[in-house]
Amino acid sequence: MSAARFRFYAELNDFLPEENRGKELTRHFSVSGSVKDFVESFGVPHTEVDLVLANGKPVDFFYPVRDGDRVSVYPVFESLDISSVSRVRPTPLRALRFLLDVHVGRLAAYLRMAGFDALYSNQASDPELAAIVARDGRVLLTRDRYLLMRTAVDRGYWVRSNEPKQQLLEVVKRFDLAGSMRPFMRCLACNTILKEANRESVLERLPPKVMNKGVFRVCPTCQRVYWEGSHHERMSKLLRWVKANVPVSPME
Ligand SMILES: [Zn+2]
Repeated sequence: MSAARFRFYAELNDFLPEENRGKELTRHFSVSGSVKDFVESFGVPHTEVDLVLANGKPVDFFYPVRDGDRVSVYPVFESLDISSVSRVRPTPLRALRFLLDVHVGRLAAYLRMAGFDALYSNQASDPELAAIVARDGRVLLTRDRYLLMRTAVDRGYWVRSNEPKQQLLEVVKRFDLAGSMRPFMRCLACNTILKEANRESVLERLPPKVMNKGVFRVCPTCQRVYWEGSHHERMSKLLRWVKANVPVSPME
């Protein structure tokens, strides 16, 4: 029987049972496999991992684990400088296009509200979601960690919180989006970029009480009309709250 030792760093410990967090964990095996399979056997999806060191050296996900290996597994870094070592991914997780599964629908609307491309499906099966991620290079946001273990899903994030506002904050922090928010430019219902419209062109689609408001935007896909009302103010408040809760990076 062979054995390898694993240590998971920072928020990767969220996936481990409490008694295993922050500790070196020994895995016995008779048949070796890729380091991806080993990492996921602990319940940690590969999409959460940005750097794997085997015996102090960076390896990719295909690295075959060997007897006596010491494996260190690191999450996506925000502020730690590891630019001198090569990561398991050829390029950092920079794509800002998201795909959300059925359990995080409200988060999809919030991301759209902040201006981010957030495709949402409440009908796609797991293989279909994985195929969209692979095809479009989207980042999958889900509460289902097993969905993130699919090999076709090379980019994703396991949403920790159950609460949509906290989920938005999590995603903004994780993907360093605080500086990229472009509020009220995307349709909350269908993800399309809105177009400005003059009041006359949307007049018949407005309830009487908003007749005298200033800026109107219309969705070219679903024809929904947006204007600055009380809903708009509530959303602005949420985005201000998100910004206030994101730590300022030393680069800014
Ligand atoms: Zn729309």
